[in-house]
Amino acid sequence: MSKLGSQAIGCNVSSCHYFENNECTLSNIQVGASNNASSGIAEEETLCMSYKRRDVQKEDRDEHIKRFGLQN
Ligand code: SF4
Repeated sequence: MSKLGSQAIGCNVSSCHYFENNECTLSNIQVGASNNASSGIAEEETLCMSYKRRDVQKEDRDEHIKRFGLQN
């Protein structure tokens, strides 16, 4: 995956395992397009594919890497 921009990832999804102090602790994320969306409204068009419920145990960033081939 390209490192274009080297962006910081601001986020307010506090239920996510990777959320901390209004930021994402992953160095990169996968953003996906929602199915059947054509409204142009951000919340309906896109979603974070890297999201993981906070209460899921096991520090499994390996799972994220396995799914998306990304490194943290
Ligand atoms: S993985 Fe997605 S939802 Fe979770 S903290 Fe990072 S940007 Fe937010």
